[in-house]
Amino acid sequence: MLLFAIWDIIYKTNVKRVSFTKKTLIVVDMQNDFIDMALGTKEAVAIVPKIKAKIEEYAKNGDEIIFTRDTHGDNYLDTPEGKKLPVPHCIKGTKGWEIADGLYVDGAEIIDKLNFGWSGWSSKSFDEIELVGLCTDICVVSNALILKACFPNAKISVDASCCAGVTVESHEAALLTMKMCQIEIINEVN
Ligand SMILES: [Zn+2]
Repeated sequence: MLLFAIWDIIYKTNVKRVSFTKKTLIVVDMQNDFIDMALGTKEAVAIVPKIKAKIEEYAKNGDEIIFTRDTHGDNYLDTPEGKKLPVPHCIKGTKGWEIADGLYVDGAEIIDKLNFGWSGWSSKSFDEIELVGLCTDICVVSNALILKACFPNAKISVDASCCAGVTVESHEAALLTMKMCQIEIINEVN
């Protein structure tokens, strides 16, 4: 009985001391069209295994995983984005729109976003956010800066080795922009 009482006190003290930090991985637009179809690059193909390993690590630890999907309709070419980038991509329901095979894990959330940045992030809550995915210089930077504005107290990081840009130069420029906005850039090759 005494032993139980002592154990109870130790247990409660420890529970109080441990504050739970929620960790979230946001996997941006890892869709076939951005990897090896309409707008694919060899840099995008190269990050797929690294992203897969990262997703598996988060899943193993029971941490939150959110995928975003760039999502357009058949009228893409008539949209403001389509007028500036006249390459149909990520048309809802097509193979190019789908997340690359082998990346999705059960229980992960998928957010279909109609623009570069998702305007709904403020409806969620985060402590620590890590972003990976495509493209560094468009959708990763857009969402990272929206998240920074919505969650100024959250720790936000981007794994540079799990991102690729439209070009190598614009990938690096986006990393610098995020760094200047106090987003932590990890695993940068330099
Ligand atoms: Zn798009």
